[in-house]
Amino acid sequence: FKNQKLVFFNDDMYSNIIKIENIKEQLKSAVDNHEFVLYYQPIVNEDKIVKKVEALIRWNNKELGFVSPMDFIPYAEESGEIVKIGYWIIEEVFKNLNEFKNGQENIQISINVSPIQLMEFYFAENVKEIANKYNVDLSQICFEITESVVLEENIIVYDNIHLLDNFGAKLALDDFGTGYASFSYLKKYNLNILKIDKSFIGDETNVDYSIIYNIKNIAHILNMEIVIEGVETEKQFEALSNIGCDYFQGYFFAKPMNFEEIYKYIL
Ligand code: C2E
Ligand code: MG
Ligand code: MG
Repeated sequence: FKNQKLVFFNDDMYSNIIKIENIKEQLKSAVDNHEFVLYYQPIVNEDKIVKKVEALIRWNNKELGFVSPMDFIPYAEESGEIVKIGYWIIEEVFKNLNEFKNGQENIQISINVSPIQLMEFYFAENVKEIANKYNVDLSQICFEITESVVLEENIIVYDNIHLLDNFGAKLALDDFGTGYASFSYLKKYNLNILKIDKSFIGDETNVDYSIIYNIKNIAHILNMEIVIEGVETEKQFEALSNIGCDYFQGYFFAKPMNFEEIYKYIL
């Protein structure tokens, strides 16, 4: 028994592994079973007028119940299932976008894309094809990428981002300030929008607000718009609009809502 090791599992670890395996298994059929729904959260300007919305996925599974995107996206990425889910999301947004057009003004819709999707050789071309199918003008669409995407320096990812840019789509860097992405990446990838992570406004300190103020100034030099995420109170909103942030997103204005609700909300 010399080289044998004994591994102990407690009940928590065991049930956690079972749960993850279950999530991965259920994810395989979730698109076909129509278990996903898209929610939309308003993004407003300084006059609290809705100028953009972000599409956020929701998963309701028979066995698992409601699963938060934070709890299943990582496994969907691990298994590659995110590619299929991602195209479903894009198709769903593009379908709905036509109805948004009935309103008076065009509203930009943001779609989160995973690094795994951008590794797909024909990702940008496929997006263009879906856009053509639904008669969608890609300049109304913003793709939110994470900083791991710009840090990776992968040629396929780089080409996809540049193609999306060429097709007229907007590009945003999500959750800025939480990791390592620097302003040189913003320049290299010609990104249009910088989304500042909510961790900067939770404490409401002068230091945090001057960090945001200075990030905003650099972003404007680079011709980028600022969206500040996670605005939860009137006080935060006032401080942030005094700083000169361009757009605001958070529970203070509205939580993510389903299509019928956002449709009424915007009209
Ligand atoms: P994210 O893209 O940064 O989206 C913003 C998240 O912050 C959303 O959580 C939103 O509901 C939440 N949020 C909005 N306002 C507030 C606020 O005032 N306070 C607080 N505390 N939170 C706020 P959600 O919908 O649970 O999504 C979590 C993350 O999961 C997203 O972060 C995104 O990274 C990922 N995700 C969501 N939908 C998709 C999707 O369709 N595709 C991909 N690839 N990822 C997605
Ligand atoms: Mg996002
Ligand atoms: Mg974010």
